[in-house]
Amino acid sequence: MQFNMIKKEQLYEGKAKIIYATEQPEEVVVYFKDDATAFNAQKRGSFADKGEMNNAITVLIYEYLEKQGIPTHFIQKLNEREQLVRKVEIIPIEFVTRNYVAGSMAQRLGLEEGIKCENTVYDICYKKDELGDPLINDDHAVLLGLATYEELIDMYDFTATINDLLIELFDEAGLILADFKIELGITSDNELVLADEISPDTCRLWDKETGEKLDKDRFRRDLGGVSEAYHEVHNRLKKVLESK
Ligand code: UDP
Repeated sequence: MQFNMIKKEQLYEGKAKIIYATEQPEEVVVYFKDDATAFNAQKRGSFADKGEMNNAITVLIYEYLEKQGIPTHFIQKLNEREQLVRKVEIIPIEFVTRNYVAGSMAQRLGLEEGIKCENTVYDICYKKDELGDPLINDDHAVLLGLATYEELIDMYDFTATINDLLIELFDEAGLILADFKIELGITSDNELVLADEISPDTCRLWDKETGEKLDKDRFRRDLGGVSEAYHEVHNRLKKVLESK
C-alpha cells in the first residue's frame, strides 16, 4: 500500500508526543511516547505500552467521531506508535468539559470529587507552559487574540457535540466520562477540526459499576495498575466499536 508518508525532520517534541514532517506539506506524523507527565511536568515517569495504547485509543475514537460527522485531523494509523494527521495550526486554548466534579475544579471550588454536574461545565485554559496553562475566560481569550467571541461560540458548540458523542460511546463501554480536554486546530483551508489526542491521558474515565479510575489519575495519584487501566479502556472501546 502506498502511504506517501516518508518521515522527515522532527518539527516539534512535546511531553507525550513528537511531530514529524512528511513529504506532503499538509500532512505530519504523530509519534506517541511512553513518557508520562503530570502537574505541569513536575511529576515525570513512563509506563509500558502507554504510547501504543494512546495511539490505538485515539485512532478508535477519531474514526468513530469522523463517522458521526465530526471533522478531525486524523488520516490513518501508520503503526503501533504512529498516526498520519493533517497539519493544522493548533489554537492555544485547552477546552475542558466536565460532566462530573473532579481534579482541579473539585479543589478550586471546594466540591467533592464524584458529584455529577447538574449543568455541563466548560473551562478554557491558555496553552502556555511558562504560565502553567492558566484557566482563562472568554474575555481573556479575546484579549489575547486567541479567538473572537463568535469563534468561541462555534468552538463551545463543537466541544458540546463531541461531549454528547463521547458520553454515549464510553457509556456503552461501561465507563463514565467524568471530564476531558480537547485541542482544536485550523487547517490550511481554514476548517476547524479536532486535533491532538483523546485518551486516558486527556479524559477521566470511571468504571460505571465500581467507580474504579481507568485513566491518568492512576499515575497522578500513584494508584498502580496504570498500564492495565489503559489496556482495559482500549479493550472495551474495541469491543463496542467492533459490534457497531
Ligand atoms: N487535562 C489534560 N491536559 C492538561 C490538563 C487537563 O488532558 O494539561 C485533562 C485531564 O486529564 C482531565 C481534564 O482535562 O480529564 C480536567 O483536568 P483538570 O483541570 O481537573 O486538571 P488536572 O486535575 O488534570 O490537573
